[in-house]
Amino acid sequence: MKREYRHLFGPVPSRRLGRSLGIDLTPFKTCTLDCIFCQLGHTTHKTLNRKEYVPVADVEAELEAWIKDGGKADYITLSGSGEPTLHDRFGDILQFIRDQTTIPTALLSNGTLFWRPEVREAAKRANLVKLSLSAWDQTSFDHINRPHPDLKFQQIMDGYRAFRNEFQGKLWIEVFLVWGSNTVPRDLEKIAALAEAMGPDEIHLNTAVRPPAEEYAFAMPRRKMEELTELFRPVATVIAEFSSDKSSDAAANEDTILAMLKRRPCTAQQISEVFGMHLNEVSKYIGKLLRNGKIGRHDRDGESYYAAGEAGRN
Ligand code: SF4
Repeated sequence: MKREYRHLFGPVPSRRLGRSLGIDLTPFKTCTLDCIFCQLGHTTHKTLNRKEYVPVADVEAELEAWIKDGGKADYITLSGSGEPTLHDRFGDILQFIRDQTTIPTALLSNGTLFWRPEVREAAKRANLVKLSLSAWDQTSFDHINRPHPDLKFQQIMDGYRAFRNEFQGKLWIEVFLVWGSNTVPRDLEKIAALAEAMGPDEIHLNTAVRPPAEEYAFAMPRRKMEELTELFRPVATVIAEFSSDKSSDAAANEDTILAMLKRRPCTAQQISEVFGMHLNEVSKYIGKLLRNGKIGRHDRDGESYYAAGEAGRN
């Protein structure tokens, strides 16, 4: 019988990491930001308060069981329902994974706490760290990322540079492009200059291919994104759709979600509860179904509902 986990999810197909076992270290949705493009919806708990949101002993017990059951993944990744560095012992979990397995670890962070030396120290235990960059100054940061009021853009950028100097592993910068909000050429040049100054190993360009928190967070057309790659140093990569989305598991999940949405409109949270899938995983399938025109989205009472068939077409 398949074991039920509370803090582990997947392995899910990831566009950059292959098959990635996710570890969720914060309750939904605890973050330092409330990005207009967030695929998890609005931040319900915006905070800078670092604490042991989920017990480390429980996470380690689940990891031990997963490893004992012969679990396989290309990466074990700290990500999930919010910002993983808000967990004040995420470094201990990275160390535990290093001690127990040879699977490399990834930390997907919005980077807003990297100005704190203890966060950088803990993050150094990951093999790969991905930091986000979508703004070029405090005003654009306030508009696109809607940060906790005590967060200062310049201080965060200083933290990024300090981390690059201290970290020997792979550093990726992800630039999330929101059509019309950070895609004007002169603004993009500023973002590119900031990214270059971080000295990352790779720069990835992403856009809202999955349903964003705000409907006005429009996706940038792929062709336009491809024209931008040369603006960045190193030359950026547009994150392509993960090819193993064609796996039989993924196809089965997509079909069952579609079948349910043909019967009744649901929110992403409801789908997640019905299928016992993490929201990150649900949002991938929803994004794909939306892009293929198989379902539609309707906002009602502040919630986004997805529907297929006639209900999805109005
Ligand atoms: S996109 Fe990431 S950083 Fe932004 S609100 Fe969502 S979880 Fe937080």
